[in-house]
Order: sequence, then structure tokens, then C-alpha cells
Amino acid sequence: MKVSNIERFATHDGPGIRTTVFLKGCSLHCPWCANPETWTVQPVLMHDETKCVLCHQCEKHCSQQAISIQDQWTWDKEKCTYCQTCIDTCIPQALSMNGKDMTIDEILEEVLKDQDYYEESHGGMTLSGGEPLYQWEEVYELLKQAKGEQLHIAMETTGHYSWDQLEKASSYVDLFLFDIKHLDKNKMKAYTGANLDRILSNFERLAQTRAKDIIVRVPVIPGFNDDILQDIITYAKAHQVQAVHLLPYHSMGKKKWHQLNKPYKYENLDMMDEATLSIYASDFVQIGG
Ligand code: SF4
Ligand code: SF4
Repeated sequence: MKVSNIERFATHDGPGIRTTVFLKGCSLHCPWCANPETWTVQPVLMHDETKCVLCHQCEKHCSQQAISIQDQWTWDKEKCTYCQTCIDTCIPQALSMNGKDMTIDEILEEVLKDQDYYEESHGGMTLSGGEPLYQWEEVYELLKQAKGEQLHIAMETTGHYSWDQLEKASSYVDLFLFDIKHLDKNKMKAYTGANLDRILSNFERLAQTRAKDIIVRVPVIPGFNDDILQDIITYAKAHQVQAVHLLPYHSMGKKKWHQLNKPYKYENLDMMDEATLSIYASDFVQIGG
């Protein structure tokens, strides 16, 4: 499977202590994304301009001419063969490759290292991304084997795929952390490229039988959805889900956008204070993950 990162001792991706497996691939392109390195299934070369001294060593040693440094450092993924020579030649360690192939056994071996903590804290494994179901065939196998190990499984999901894919995965998933970012399909399409009808249809079908296993998550983005939060809460409540979590905008992904040479839409936007969302807090609505 194509894995971006595995994070142990995660405490915001479901109950208890968890290991979160960040999988590569996503069909959305949210401009506030905290993990833009996961969008492609292929690995991506990340360049930290705060460490780079423009010595040109990476450019010189790349046999594919995939790196070019003129006005700025650039990488051509079409030419890159992922040989990693540039990373080895960069003395200030300004380069890193995100994304690696792991077998299901390798992923589970990593996840099961903390099984004692899961039992103590009622934690488990969370699949995240990207969108976990982007690699749906491999994900079913991972889910099946993880269930065989009696793991509690949570899945953070965009809801953007076919119903068949979700239905097949759902029997192995104990908790869905289901993103509902907006209720206006034109705005959703314009900002993220996603088909909102597809997402809401999947959400509503899942909620018919698994409502109490769904937490609706809303990344709160100023200027995008901060004026319709009550509508999303009302919608989620009507479908009798377990809870809504409002996740205040943060800029922790900004550095990654820079490292990927991608323009970041929210360059000058301050992190949102949780207190500004406290008017929505209730037994049903939690502020933060
Ligand atoms: S080798 Fe490293 S420090 Fe030198 S130009 Fe390349 S990325 Fe920058
Ligand atoms: S990984 Fe290899 S091919 Fe790709 S940019 Fe670096 S040196 Fe060039």
C-alpha cells in the first residue's frame, strides 16, 4: 500500500490512544488541507527552503534533470524516478521524499506495537489520509486483517467515492469520522473539486444503519463555511449521528505547501481561536477533535 506516514500515540483521531495510518491518494483538493503531500499516490519530493543553501548539488546529481534551480528550486515529477540520490547528496537535509510502499503485514506490525496501550485506553487504529478508500482494494484487506487482531478501527473519510466502496469497508469500521465541509454543492465544487451530492448520499445511506457510529467532522474555514455551521449541525442532528466535532482552522499544514512549491491560499490567515466557536458547544457539539 502507498503510505504517507504512520503516527503512534495519536490522541485526536478517535477514542483513546491510537496509531493513525495516513494513506496516500485523495480526489479532493481542499485549499486548507493539512496533508497536501497525501494527494497523490506517487511519492512527492519535499523541499525545505528554510534549510536549502542553493548549493546546486541536488541539481548536479540528478541524472534525470528533474531538479532545476534558476529563479527558484523546482522539481519535475514527470522526470523523477524516485532514486533518492538528491536526498543523499543534500548536506543541509533540505529534501525528503513523502510516500512509501508498505505491505499490510508491515503496517500491522507497526500498529500492533502499541496494542497494550489500546487495551488500556480503549484506543486502536485510525485510517486517515488523504482518503483511505482511494486505495480501496488494499484497504479492505488491511481492515479485514486488523479486525482479525481485534483492533478498534476508526476511519477519517471525505465520503467521496461510490456507495459500494463504503458499504464493503463499513462492516470492519467501528467509528466513522465523516467530514461534512459544506451543504452547498456549488461552493463545495469550487473550493474542493468534490461532488457534494455523492458525499451526502453516502453519508445518509450510512446513517440509516450506523448513525451512532458516525462523528461528523467540520473543518471550520473562515470565508468558506463559518457562516453555515449551525446548518451543518442541524443536518447532522437530523440524521441522529453520535456527535459533531467543529475543528477550528489551523495553519499547521502551511509549511508543507511551501515544501511542495504550491501556493497556499490562506497565507495571511491567523489560526482560529477555539473560543470563537464556543457558542456552538453542547452535549452534541464538541469544539476540537
Ligand atoms: S542539495 Fe539541498 S541545499 Fe543544495 S540546492 Fe539542493 S536542496 Fe538546496
Ligand atoms: S529522486 Fe532521483 S530522479 Fe528524482 S529528483 Fe531526486 S535525484 Fe532526481
